[in-house]
Amino acid sequence: MVKFSKKYSALSLAVEALRGHVGWKPAWRNAEPKRQYDMVLIGGGGHGLATAYYLAKVHGYKNIAVLEKGWIGGGNSGRNTTIVRSNYFFPESTAFYDFSLKLYEGLSRELNYNVMFSQRGMMMLAHDRHGVEMLRRSANAMLLNGADAEFLSPHEVRARVPGLNPSPRFPIMAGLNQPRGGSARHDAVVWGYARAADALGVDIIQGCEVTGFGIENGQVNAVETSRGRIETGKVGVAVAGHSSMIAQMAGFNLPIISYALQAYVSEPLKPCLDTVLLSPATGVYVSQSDKGGLVIGSSLDLYPSYAQRGNLPTMEASAAGIVELFPQFSRVKFLRQWAGIVDVMHDSTPVVGKTPVKGLYFNCGWGTGGFKAIPGGGYCFAHTMANDEPHPLVAPFSLKRFETGRLIDEAAGAGIAH
Ligand SMILES: Cc1cc2nc3c(=O)[nH]c(=O)nc-3n(C[C@H](O)[C@H](O)[C@H](O)COP(=O)(O)OP(=O)(O)OC[C@H]3O[C@@H](n4cnc5c(N)ncnc54)[C@H](O)[C@@H]3O)c2cc1C
Repeated sequence: MVKFSKKYSALSLAVEALRGHVGWKPAWRNAEPKRQYDMVLIGGGGHGLATAYYLAKVHGYKNIAVLEKGWIGGGNSGRNTTIVRSNYFFPESTAFYDFSLKLYEGLSRELNYNVMFSQRGMMMLAHDRHGVEMLRRSANAMLLNGADAEFLSPHEVRARVPGLNPSPRFPIMAGLNQPRGGSARHDAVVWGYARAADALGVDIIQGCEVTGFGIENGQVNAVETSRGRIETGKVGVAVAGHSSMIAQMAGFNLPIISYALQAYVSEPLKPCLDTVLLSPATGVYVSQSDKGGLVIGSSLDLYPSYAQRGNLPTMEASAAGIVELFPQFSRVKFLRQWAGIVDVMHDSTPVVGKTPVKGLYFNCGWGTGGFKAIPGGGYCFAHTMANDEPHPLVAPFSLKRFETGRLIDEAAGAGIAH
């Protein structure tokens, strides 16, 4: 049980409303770095914070720090389009992502924080015969691997998404629906884990950039930071698009390419779309947020980059894709556009595990799809760090697969973007 200084509940809300909201405390402390920790997590995104939480909760570690160069959730965890699903092809992937989805199903209760998890379904469209064949295979694979899936005829797709273009240039030939898929509020997931980790004694240190490592005889013994040297025997890295840079600081390379991935949100509309829709042929996916905005995601920008803003041609292609699917959205205005730097592996499968440096572990390569993996990734990474052995669910995701050739090529299951 996590002991919160103040539990969030209908009663505490009512009491505070009557008292003029004077009793709320900051959800986590702004900790100062200590000179030594048992474990250090680099990156205050969802994965770093969830890992710290499970290290404290499940494995009993108390002396842990999360070091974040900016503010928590300022990376991809606060920039994504919030889709949660487990519709992958290979057994290893489905087993892991479905585990993460199950953790999402109980997350608000686990963290005593409303992460606004909404299982409104997630539907992929097929626009040609090959796409139909692929969706059939995916549906069968998902069912065989224990996930939920429905293969839908064009008629069934249109019955569930009434606003779709009646005569699109790319015909809608089938759909693959995962009813348990949906979305969660991204910053709530980050803040929920941060609050719960803090309640278990984890130091969350913002504005603290890691600039190097102390390594002796192949074993990590410290991290160098913009706020001084911190001694520690175990370091977990969860920095998404910056993973290659951190690996280079430790003296090795990762098979990762970093790209900008863009997203957009429109002005609020009345409720008009109650599922998440993904169209590989037009290169876009769309859902409607609780505030009414259309949340639109696109393909990767076309060339590798660390520029966290994205560029115009991709944005234009996304707008064209949305209007192709829903011509009635053509006069809807975009309110905001942004991008995050995503860490793409060649086989579209993450890396969670050990590295050539003893005591240094990496959690990366989630590319365009690591938000859904936050609870599962944090849980399994914590196990891996605590036991110096991979959790069975992430054992296939080790770096070793690039030596053995046992790649898990999830390019089709990964979505539209990688
Ligand atoms: C536009 C967009 C849409 C997406 N849509 C989805 C989606 O719908 N569903 C889905 O599942 N996934 C989606 N993703 C992917 C998902 O957001 C990421 O895979 C996931 O958030 C990665 O979480 P993380 O904690 O590993 O990284 P991040 O949240 O990026 O956190 C890493 C943190 O590390 C910090 N950092 C970096 N370098 C250092 C350093 N040297 N020292 C200290 N701190 C450092 C950064 O500041 C950052 O805060 C999307 C991504 C983007 C960009």
